Amino acid sequence: MNAACGSAPAAVRRSGSNPEPFASSSDTPGGAGDRAAYETLHEPADLHRWLRGFVEVAVAPVTDADLLQAQRLREGIWQCMDAWADGTPLPRAHVEQVNRFALKPSLAPVLDAAGGRRWAEPASCDAVLSTLARDLIEVLTGPLGDRVRRCGGDHCPLLFVDASRPGRRRWCSMQRCGNRAKVRAFRDRQHGERP
Ligand SMILES: [Zn+2]
Repeated sequence: MNAACGSAPAAVRRSGSNPEPFASSSDTPGGAGDRAAYETLHEPADLHRWLRGFVEVAVAPVTDADLLQAQRLREGIWQCMDAWADGTPLPRAHVEQVNRFALKPSLAPVLDAAGGRRWAEPASCDAVLSTLARDLIEVLTGPLGDRVRRCGGDHCPLLFVDASRPGRRRWCSMQRCGNRAKVRAFRDRQHGERP
């Protein structure tokens, strides 16, 4: 048992280097307003694929109603993290939304024969959404509460939770905004070195 994991939320514990909960991950953008253009969850199959990657076990079939619920929670998590990152009051309607999801049964952990841990399967969409909602509550009220940040990339609206030990993460993802910033810094340096 890794003591460093402590009370880290499930999404953090499970995915290690990719700790963003559902709504803030660059893997599952989309939502209201400007974010609609980046929607990735168009149909139940898209959601099923994402859930499968998140829980790493079999996932029960996903319906249109599940998709709607997932989009609703994603928006709730996003709005709460957005306000939190800015230090503004959390939007009450979205807080209530998140709390409603958190009230449902969450994913259940099980031991495997090798002493490892995985989620009981098949995981239901409801259980994953509950786990994500609970994760948000843990993130905001736990040691990672002051690690909710906005990506430093140009025009990138994504939020992230910096769960790294040093706490100096600046980008939504290294592959996306981190590399772009590095390339730009390299070009700027080259430009500056010219006679
Ligand atoms: Zn970014």
